[in-house]
Amino acid sequence: MSLHALKILERRRETAPESDKAVFCLRLACTEPYEPGDWLMVQPVNPQRTVGDVLEALGLTGAERVTLRRHGEVPVFEALREHLEITQLDPAMLNRLQRKEGIGDWPDRQAMVDYAWHRDLLDFLCDYPDARALSLKLIDYLSPLAPRYYSIASACCAHPGEVHILFKHVVHMVCGREHPGAATTLLRESPVGSFVQGRIQANKGFKLPQQGEVPIVMIGAGVGLAPFIGFMQARLREGAVGENWLFFGETHEKSTFLCREQLTGWVAQGALQLATAFSRDQAEKIYVQHRVLEHADDVRRLFAEGAYFYLCGDKRGMAPAVLDALTQCLGEDKMAQLKAENRLQTDIY
Ligand SMILES: Cc1cc2nc3c(=O)[nH]c(=O)nc-3n(C[C@H](O)[C@H](O)[C@H](O)COP(=O)(O)OP(=O)(O)OC[C@H]3O[C@@H](n4cnc5c(N)ncnc54)[C@H](O)[C@@H]3O)c2cc1C
Repeated sequence: MSLHALKILERRRETAPESDKAVFCLRLACTEPYEPGDWLMVQPVNPQRTVGDVLEALGLTGAERVTLRRHGEVPVFEALREHLEITQLDPAMLNRLQRKEGIGDWPDRQAMVDYAWHRDLLDFLCDYPDARALSLKLIDYLSPLAPRYYSIASACCAHPGEVHILFKHVVHMVCGREHPGAATTLLRESPVGSFVQGRIQANKGFKLPQQGEVPIVMIGAGVGLAPFIGFMQARLREGAVGENWLFFGETHEKSTFLCREQLTGWVAQGALQLATAFSRDQAEKIYVQHRVLEHADDVRRLFAEGAYFYLCGDKRGMAPAVLDALTQCLGEDKMAQLKAENRLQTDIY
């Protein structure tokens, strides 16, 4: 499906300037219809400085021409900037290079996956100088630049002609060098009024109940809050009378309470029951799963009243811990019932 040019209408920082986490709410113009729970796919462009460093490592000027399967013949600068992955390392690419060029010393696929984790093409070129000697030939091994997914943080009915997302700027230090993420650097640095390429992607597995009187329980940490903003906007617009519960986790109440005004406003209206967990505001770490356990009686009551449970955010740490907490509250049989009735829905990554 084709991409559309989406105009950036506003970018609002959601974390305090002193926080090392930079999370933004981005408002984009969008005429494509969507439902709460859907995703926005954003086609990234690689950071210019990373492209420059890769060209230098390969001894190229950028004007050399390469042929790409989907784009035909283009200058290598364009290929690296717009069409090929360079901020992530694809283990499949490492495999091909090892097999065909004898570059690399990984005993098996898992070793390639482990090496690729949080490394980019420049790390690889630094660690394996033989790959640099491939110069233009290396381009043939790179994977196509994939779109990135963002959970939509708005409801069409509340914001006609717009789509909102919450994104965390990914930039981490590895081996003393900053590794900026492709899409989130683009989303952070593109001026308001400029355009990014993207499109709506339906997520049929993450949907509000048809009946507004059914309660919902939303559990998420960090940018995992995003779809629940859309859920709340839709429920309020549609006059849904069912209870809305949100368990939201972040690190510090003062600096990382995302969408604070909106959430506390809904609490003040009596529209939302909010339980927050700010993990680093006290000596012992408190996460959303701890808040779920503290509200075990409510969880059991809401289950009995037919509530839908939603989980969004970190797949590795948060999701298993929250599922475990829900299982402690409800027991295995009721968890199985939730899944069978499609009342436990996840958007985890
Ligand atoms: C279904 C789905 C929904 C998503 N929803 C959201 C959302 O609502 N908001 C949001 O901000 N993101 C969301 N993501 C993540 C998003 O799609 C991107 O993966 C993320 O923004 C990084 O993209 P990037 O191009 O900036 O970084 P990349 O260029 O892809 O990555 C650069 C480097 O950073 C590492 N990296 C990637 N992500 C992280 C991370 N989170 N923390 C630390 N290092 C990382 C990579 O391993 C790589 O080494 C979602 C992902 C999926 C699959």
